[in-house]
Amino acid sequence: MTDLISVFDRIDGYRDEIIQLQRNLTARVALGPDNGGRGEHEKTAYINSLLETLKPDILHEVKAPDKRAHNGYRPNLIAKWEGRQKAPMVWVLSHSDIVPPGDLSLWETDPYELMVDGDRIVGRGVEDNQHGFVSSYLGLKAILDSGQPLKRSVGLVIVADEETGSDYGLRYVLRHHKAYFRPEDLIIVPDAGNEEGTMIEVAEKSMLWLKFVVTGRQCHASTPHKGKNSLSGTAKLILALEELNDRFDLIDPLFRPSQSTFAPTKSEGNVPNVNTIPGKNIFYVDCRLLPQYSVDEVLSASREIAASISSETDLQIEVEPVHRQDAAPPTSPNAPVVEALAGSIKRVTGRQGKAMGIGGGTVAAFFRKEGLPAAVWSTCPDSAHQPNEYCLIPDIITDAKIFACLYQGEYDRDTT
Ligand SMILES: [Zn+2]
Repeated sequence: MTDLISVFDRIDGYRDEIIQLQRNLTARVALGPDNGGRGEHEKTAYINSLLETLKPDILHEVKAPDKRAHNGYRPNLIAKWEGRQKAPMVWVLSHSDIVPPGDLSLWETDPYELMVDGDRIVGRGVEDNQHGFVSSYLGLKAILDSGQPLKRSVGLVIVADEETGSDYGLRYVLRHHKAYFRPEDLIIVPDAGNEEGTMIEVAEKSMLWLKFVVTGRQCHASTPHKGKNSLSGTAKLILALEELNDRFDLIDPLFRPSQSTFAPTKSEGNVPNVNTIPGKNIFYVDCRLLPQYSVDEVLSASREIAASISSETDLQIEVEPVHRQDAAPPTSPNAPVVEALAGSIKRVTGRQGKAMGIGGGTVAAFFRKEGLPAAVWSTCPDSAHQPNEYCLIPDIITDAKIFACLYQGEYDRDTT
């Protein structure tokens, strides 16, 4: 038995350390080229220096070539500490990149300067995904600093490019260094969660983003009969597309929400003035599909609906998929990683973890596609991508303890 209580005591004393780490991480702006930045180098170099202080057995920088980025590459890190037991080992994957702050007038403070208000810390990246790195790192540091032997081998992976497709992040790492990971390893991605820390995400919906181009004929608004109003046609089409909810109405209680969703989202500007009938209107629909449905099925249903509105309105309508991500095979709700997480949550908070499916978009899907069962989990208020993004210091402390349980293999085995 290791002395987890003394490890927990150490973690309880990490408040100042958490603030310091979060401040330094937030100040090192890690924006990828697709988000108007030059990459994650400064932040990753800082993380590298933190990992070095814990004397890893392996510390490997994986450089994904990207001409647009500083020095022509995007930095990824793989660090590993050997434990006493052969298997299973624990991997925790966090991402270094952030999304831009968006409209600065919506922020109450400078997004890149940490603001601490009691237990709340505010800044771009503090939750997404610095919370994940800081908690997994401090859980390990507490064990190593306590002088106790590390029971399981532990790997921390810090990837670039999570927010813009992962081509230079996890996908690159898996393409070139998949051998680090084995199917029996416990792979955790602390990049989504709920306030109670009970949501263990094991499955994702397929993603399909559709672009609709509605073309009519522009004319003066005082003589609408001389044109074909693409905006009116768009309105009809958006309402008609609600039929997708009825056609694909399966309910799967593993998921939240439990059905497929079809949400009209972005609308491109049409005419700059009020007195012109728009000849062209472009909008998008974000579809999240239960894995029971094929993406192609939904694509052809959308085209069918568009065709019927086209013949009804005499407008030309094109439907184009601009992004699709077919769902990866889910991690089993009974997989060892789910049981280990649920047991550790129980041990630390007394709460009951629950396997669930979500709308999609986490990097865990890339592991799952390679036959590596991964679970997404963290205790967080879910303020990612919002202005005034924040996280709570007690949540980071809780999650650091949960990671310590996982690293030492000490948790409740019976969580039913
Ligand atoms: Zn994230």
